Amino acid sequence: MKNYHTHTKRCKHAINTEEEYILSAIKAGYTELGFSDHTPWVYTSSFHPTMRMEASEIEDYITTLLQLKEKYKNQISIKIGLECEYFEKYMDGLKKMLKTYPIDYIILGQHYDESDENGCYFGFPLTFKQLTKYVDTCIQAMETGLYSYVAHPDLANFNTKDPFYIQEMKRLCLKAKQLDLPLEFNLLGYKTHRHYPCDDFFKIAREVGNRVVIGTDAHEASALLDMQTYQQAKQHLEDLGFEITEDIRFLR
Ligand SMILES: [Zn+2]
Ligand SMILES: [Zn+2]
Repeated sequence: MKNYHTHTKRCKHAINTEEEYILSAIKAGYTELGFSDHTPWVYTSSFHPTMRMEASEIEDYITTLLQLKEKYKNQISIKIGLECEYFEKYMDGLKKMLKTYPIDYIILGQHYDESDENGCYFGFPLTFKQLTKYVDTCIQAMETGLYSYVAHPDLANFNTKDPFYIQEMKRLCLKAKQLDLPLEFNLLGYKTHRHYPCDDFFKIAREVGNRVVIGTDAHEASALLDMQTYQQAKQHLEDLGFEITEDIRFLR
């Protein structure tokens, strides 16, 4: 069992130490655990984000995980990743960070439009135009070849019965299929009854033939011990006709 969606307290809305997440994962029987905390960005404004680490914290994030990776190497494989948006104007900064640090993978979590400095949050009810922008941005992101999978692709908040939703989300699914990028079924959203993961979205993905990965989106170490939610989700996906994948692409 593998999970590539794990946060750390640096994002200001998660708890526990990295070691506690690792010990939970070992206890639950995971063979590989990927950390994917919310990426920092180097902003051109004086903006300080409220839901991600500061750029100055990346160093400590990496060194802490490298130490633990070594310490637990006989018990579990640790991968170092980040959950990143696609912010066009800041992509050079992200690419530089991927070169500077031993980052194994990044996942796409397109929470905001353009940047979190003042862009809209895609999890709030969207206009037609905003939904199109969400899909266009995800497609652009996937086309960079940097991202290993799309986290909570159904974060975009829209009437899921609307033919326009189906049309737009189908474009996202088709691009993921074309590039063989898995789509995530998000366990945090599933457990806390958010508007995602959404069956209407996964019906589109099923039709398109996408691969689906289960992501814990752990913001506390105990989330990795919750096998009941995991098994329920797995069963739910199997009922929808999916075969679950754990096979993702790495940068290095
Ligand atoms: Zn988070
Ligand atoms: Zn996310």
